[in-house]
Amino acid sequence: MSSQKIFLFDFDGVIVDGMHEYWHSSLLACEKYLNSQHIIIDQKLYKTVPNSFKEIRPWVKYGWEMILIVHEIIRTENPLKNHNKDNFINNYHQNCQKILNYNSWKAEELQKILDKSRKCQIDKDFKSWVNLHKPFFEVINFMKDLRKKEIKTGIITTKGKIFAEKILKQLDIYPEFVFGYESGTKIKIAEKLTQTYKILGFIEDRKKTLIDIKQNSRTSHIPCFLADWGYLKELDRYNLSNEIKLIKLGNLEELVAIQR
Ligand SMILES: [Mg+2]
Repeated sequence: MSSQKIFLFDFDGVIVDGMHEYWHSSLLACEKYLNSQHIIIDQKLYKTVPNSFKEIRPWVKYGWEMILIVHEIIRTENPLKNHNKDNFINNYHQNCQKILNYNSWKAEELQKILDKSRKCQIDKDFKSWVNLHKPFFEVINFMKDLRKKEIKTGIITTKGKIFAEKILKQLDIYPEFVFGYESGTKIKIAEKLTQTYKILGFIEDRKKTLIDIKQNSRTSHIPCFLADWGYLKELDRYNLSNEIKLIKLGNLEELVAIQR
């Protein structure tokens, strides 16, 4: 194992709050590229992110699922609303599969149109697109502090690499690498990274990902931190194993002190 020290970060919900962008880009993908007779897009829909979308976001693993959720929320008949939201969440993965099958959609196609929607906005008005993201400045500062201590930073995200990179550049953050969904699962990426780096920590807001890291013998030594400020499910903060620590924005500095 190399002694090159690195700290790993998830992107969405950890470095930036992109809630407005997820809604906007997914809605635009529905409007421009999705073939569906079940929706009519009113331009007013772009103005506010519905609570139902915000509440379901913690269940999302891959971007394409957001298009499907937006589609269900804006359906003209029997839309996904507060009263049926729990049913949807309780069987989240099965429900996503059911909707894919019912509409004869493929996950990869939905992912492609989400990326297309993002690219279209970037080409048209880059600044407006970037401004849909709210950075967590405490995290940005933490990343800069690590750099001063000659600890590298790396990003593992389920977003497309190119989109994460564009936002990071705006934030003046230049990590050692960014791995997006194109590079495979986070656990496989982490496994590979352990061969080259001494990983001082991984901050992520999806609890299941951290549990998987801890349960894999090749990655279980990585210190895992659940981002309290991210898109957490209500129960995520409770019953955490000793191995996964809940970390708050105000406590990030402690991590640099511990990790030497
Ligand atoms: Mg995340």
